[in-house]
Amino acid sequence: MDLIRNGWFSEINNLWPGQAMSIEVEEVLHHERSDYQDVLVFKSKTYGNVLVLDGVIQLTERDEFSYQEMITHLPMFSHPNPQKVLIIGGGDGGVVREVLKHATVEQVVQCEIDKMVIDVSKKYLPSTASCYSNPKLYQHVGDGFAFMREHKNEFDVIITDSSDPDGPAESLFEQPYYELMKAALRPNGIISTQGECMWLHLLLIKKMLQFNRGLFPTAEYGFTTIPTYPSGQIGFMLCSCNPETKFSEPARTITDAEADAMDLKYYSSAVHRAAFVLPRFVQKELSGL
Ligand code: SAM
Repeated sequence: MDLIRNGWFSEINNLWPGQAMSIEVEEVLHHERSDYQDVLVFKSKTYGNVLVLDGVIQLTERDEFSYQEMITHLPMFSHPNPQKVLIIGGGDGGVVREVLKHATVEQVVQCEIDKMVIDVSKKYLPSTASCYSNPKLYQHVGDGFAFMREHKNEFDVIITDSSDPDGPAESLFEQPYYELMKAALRPNGIISTQGECMWLHLLLIKKMLQFNRGLFPTAEYGFTTIPTYPSGQIGFMLCSCNPETKFSEPARTITDAEADAMDLKYYSSAVHRAAFVLPRFVQKELSGL
């Protein structure tokens, strides 16, 4: 795969035809094919170290906090008392780091398909993979879909931090996977998943929201901004088994001082509320589901 030309990495992919994010490369730190995907880590000129899987940017050190905080704290602060949390994917460790900021959490289970992602993240993304030795974490290397089939009535929050639906994560965007997640939740449990971009994949978002509103009493799409994901925006599918959950109003709010103590750089209770205010073109497409 010819990912780097003239010192620039370009994210050319059929999932976002006719556009590409480019980042200037200083040094390639790791490039190898795992059993599942092409794994590239490079040091960039202005975005820190960058993790790329199958030619798609997974994170940069400069802006990863936006995605990690929002995919994690939108569900965590929507739950009154999250104690046992499951993470599917997230091999870079960023979601583990964020989940462990909640004092209520007793155990975090992570199921990542690709051990190479975990290993390169420990080596080249130490601030993201900073909690991999935490005693509350139980790590399993395997497929998230198969893992979900084996677990029932076990988790307060499930976060699926997956790559895009083209490669090993394909099954994680389909209804059967959401049915398995629902069965793996405890009563009043909540899920949050990588829910793609409103500028590029509105019809996929619509399809997912439609089947989730059939499965869960509450399902919403919320979003964050992030410069290095396609079109600078990515969203999350939030679903709750509790009909009382109102995602646009956090069940637990925090002060600025508490946000500072948690080292939050993007998430606040106000940002939480705003994440569910959708632009009109999105609102219109998703209305009446
Ligand atoms: N937020 C990132 C994005 O949207 O680009 C995703 C970050 S995280 C690195 C994605 C992880 O999901 C990868 O490490 C990948 O190996 C993992 N993954 C993909 N398919 C999976 C599956 N079926 N089960 C478990 N993990 C999976």
